[in-house]
Amino acid sequence: MASKPETRAHVLIIGAGPVGMMCASKLSHAGIKTTVVESDKFIPPIPKALTYTAPVLADLKKLGVLEEVQKISFADEHAIWQWRTLGGELLADMHWSLLEDHADPRLVKPYTLQCGQHLLAEVLTEYCGRFPSTEVLFDHALVGLTQDASQVTAQVSRSGGEPFEIKADWVIGADGGKSATRKFIDQSLEGFTWNESFVAMNVHFPFPKYGWGAANFLIGGKEWAVAGRSGPLTDPWRVAFGVEVGLTDEQVMKDIAPDRLKRILPGPDPYEIVQCSQYRVHQRQVQQYKVGRVVLAGDAAHLNNPIGGFGLTTGMTDAGCISDALILVIRGEAPEEFLQKACDVRREIFATVSNPGSQKFKAMVQQDPDNICAEDREFFEKLKNDAEFHRSALTGVMRLYTPVEDLMGK
Ligand SMILES: Cc1cc2nc3c(=O)[nH]c(=O)nc-3n(C[C@H](O)[C@H](O)[C@H](O)COP(=O)(O)OP(=O)(O)OC[C@H]3O[C@@H](n4cnc5c(N)ncnc54)[C@H](O)[C@@H]3O)c2cc1C
Repeated sequence: MASKPETRAHVLIIGAGPVGMMCASKLSHAGIKTTVVESDKFIPPIPKALTYTAPVLADLKKLGVLEEVQKISFADEHAIWQWRTLGGELLADMHWSLLEDHADPRLVKPYTLQCGQHLLAEVLTEYCGRFPSTEVLFDHALVGLTQDASQVTAQVSRSGGEPFEIKADWVIGADGGKSATRKFIDQSLEGFTWNESFVAMNVHFPFPKYGWGAANFLIGGKEWAVAGRSGPLTDPWRVAFGVEVGLTDEQVMKDIAPDRLKRILPGPDPYEIVQCSQYRVHQRQVQQYKVGRVVLAGDAAHLNNPIGGFGLTTGMTDAGCISDALILVIRGEAPEEFLQKACDVRREIFATVSNPGSQKFKAMVQQDPDNICAEDREFFEKLKNDAEFHRSALTGVMRLYTPVEDLMGK
């Protein structure tokens, strides 16, 4: 329930995507006056990220919204992720239920959730609505930003109209890959862009009839694909694959998708595509997450290819850690350097876990299915035959999690 603001501090969050709304939820829950500005009139339901692993669940549980998110998700503690060849041969399974007797109390059931990220952002926006000191302003874009040692002044424009000022003690830029906040603090995303486009489509097709798990990684060279549930049982599935750069969505739908789906789908049943979008993929990160009183989180700070589900899980765990650190600084329980430390640790996690991990997943699915490399063959064999290895492969996702308590005393 809403708690009284304990400080006069005001935090402005740019962007009402899932990362911005997770930050807003944490700050609101801590009783801190929070304003979110979002340039869109609403969060559009386009097919973007949909898988959230254990580290995200831990923060949703702390906020008390885990059950609500479960209701709109595919949520099954016995969920199975599978590795297959494009032809459908099952190479290995990952069983989340193996974590049942795991000692780490931060491993929250059902361990993974699958739902469209716009729905997650909506649940968090509704949650913020319970707090009178929190305001979410849709159709308001950040168009300018300056700061001095004691405050930040943001220029915000409604529906492209005359800008007006919002003053805040701190700003969190969670405004995605094309972040304006990032530009105003002179940071750029360093790294590279892959020379291919990814297609994400929502498709109705009876995958479970063919024994497919909640998430499926299909090894197929240039014809790789990923398919997984996008929500509760009746929802369409998400199918993603790569195409050359420069095609229109119409070309993808008409000239590419029918042939590709024929090879990806495991049977002759009819299918229906309900949504389709294309996007470029990158491996990039800024040098500094914190510049003065402005911090970046999520796609505003880093981008990676989505295979393996590192993108949004990293963004959501940034949001948890950075907001919790900011709350301690605002309450005077930690010095400003503590926020810097949280930002530096999150930057290091992207550099050492999410960035290489997502590239490893991409290389795995993009290899020749008839000539799978020795390292990956060994990985599949160990998943099948070594329960301890299997468990450690599952708990590996916790490397993305930085509970703020872990930073204290470091
Ligand atoms: C088509 C597509 C498919 C994807 N699929 C996957 C996937 O399957 N798995 C995966 O892990 N990742 C995927 N990603 C990446 C994933 O969606 C991102 O990691 C995730 O969206 C990051 O969340 P965020 O809140 O940081 O940014 P966003 O979700 O981009 O939210 C940023 C918000 O800021 C708002 N905004 C932008 N500029 C301003 C401004 N100047 N003022 C105010 N508001 C502003 C935007 O309107 C937006 O609502 C996909 C991305 C795309 C584009």
